[in-house]
Amino acid sequence: MGSLCCGPNAVEPVGRSISSSRTKESQKSPSLPQESPKKWWNKEKRPKYGKTANNPVGPPGLQNLGNTCFINAVLQCIFNTQPLQEYFLGGIYQNDISQNASNQGEYARALATLLTEHWLRANKYIRPQEFVNLVWQSSILFRKGLPQDAHEFLSFFLDKLHEDLNRAPKTSKKLATIKGKRSERYAAKSWRSYLETNCSIIIDLFQGQLRSTLKCLNCKGAKVKFENFLHLSLPIPSNIQNPCLDDCMREFTKAEFLVDKWFCPKCQTPVSAAKKYDIWKAPPILIIHLKRFIFNRDKRGKVEGLVNYPLEGFDLTKYTASTQREVPLYEAFARIDHSGSLENGHYSAAVKNKSAQEWYSYDDSLVDKLDETDLVSPEAYVLFYQKTSIREFKRQQFDLPELWPHIVKATLARRPSEVSDQDVSFMSNDSHMSNESYQNHFSDLSVKDSY
Ligand SMILES: [Zn+2]
Repeated sequence: MGSLCCGPNAVEPVGRSISSSRTKESQKSPSLPQESPKKWWNKEKRPKYGKTANNPVGPPGLQNLGNTCFINAVLQCIFNTQPLQEYFLGGIYQNDISQNASNQGEYARALATLLTEHWLRANKYIRPQEFVNLVWQSSILFRKGLPQDAHEFLSFFLDKLHEDLNRAPKTSKKLATIKGKRSERYAAKSWRSYLETNCSIIIDLFQGQLRSTLKCLNCKGAKVKFENFLHLSLPIPSNIQNPCLDDCMREFTKAEFLVDKWFCPKCQTPVSAAKKYDIWKAPPILIIHLKRFIFNRDKRGKVEGLVNYPLEGFDLTKYTASTQREVPLYEAFARIDHSGSLENGHYSAAVKNKSAQEWYSYDDSLVDKLDETDLVSPEAYVLFYQKTSIREFKRQQFDLPELWPHIVKATLARRPSEVSDQDVSFMSNDSHMSNESYQNHFSDLSVKDSY
């Protein structure tokens, strides 16, 4: 359960002044082109936004339909995720709609319709009624009028799009848990196994892979597991004043001692253990969720204040333990802000238009050009980054490891079960880590001791 966008009794979102005139503005649905988007969409002619928010040919806002600011903020970030734009507006999605999708591709189609309206800019703002109805109907969590967490909705929405656009011929709800001693080999096996049943534009763009290492502090043996992610949820360190995004990454990837004892299979007894995450595959589009909301036995509240994040040159190299195809260097292009408190708050978005190279703020139906001084905001809650080193976005395929985000021996990826351990090189650049607990307990993380 995340933060609420508005209190249970709140009618209007707080934290931003909302003009009452917005409900009086005319709401005529823009006419959509009759032919398929593929025919009329020409990315060379992609419209550039107008210079001011009050200019009617500027980017359109999204009307709040009653506690729907969390949906609007997510949609504006998705609208401006450039490779997704090309994919939907170019009509490519139509060929990918999965026969196995439970809702026959409703979410993909609804997004394509909204994106088309967005880029037509026929009105100052769009009334996303059909999309919102779909959300209200398809999940108890997001049912009508309930305030919700934008990050939770983003995860839900990406899952729905993935389900609609899954190109994998086989489907399986059950995935084998792959654990092993040779990181490289098991990472490849795990990624391949996932792609066999899960392969969509969402995976192509947003999915990365984490290595989780659980280490016995007695025998120094380690258990390695690989996990896929569509976003990283980063803790905000409480002991640092004015933390930056690198502080959050360091907090996320540092070795942490387990409170409870862990049963070590080698020592055959409960032992003290430490856990550590490293990035194994860095995705083309990186979504970072700052854990501002705390829900535990002792505390319930919001971590306020600025987390200083870079707009350009955000480098994941030092948190990445395998060799990447492209340098994991990122630039920011969108963010979701949360203002107000845990119980009573409001979501808005700030997004960079790729063509105009300008940032805009989106507060439901109100759109403005973003001030230079607001490019980094103390209210930032979810950040969207695009890899700058990437030349083209590749579609993932389980049997083509040359398309995967990190470098894998072809034999390893194709026939993992037939590869002997001697074929496997353990590629790690962990040695840069200076964290003391890491040095003490993880510096001798040796593959030969693993199980
Ligand atoms: Zn042990």
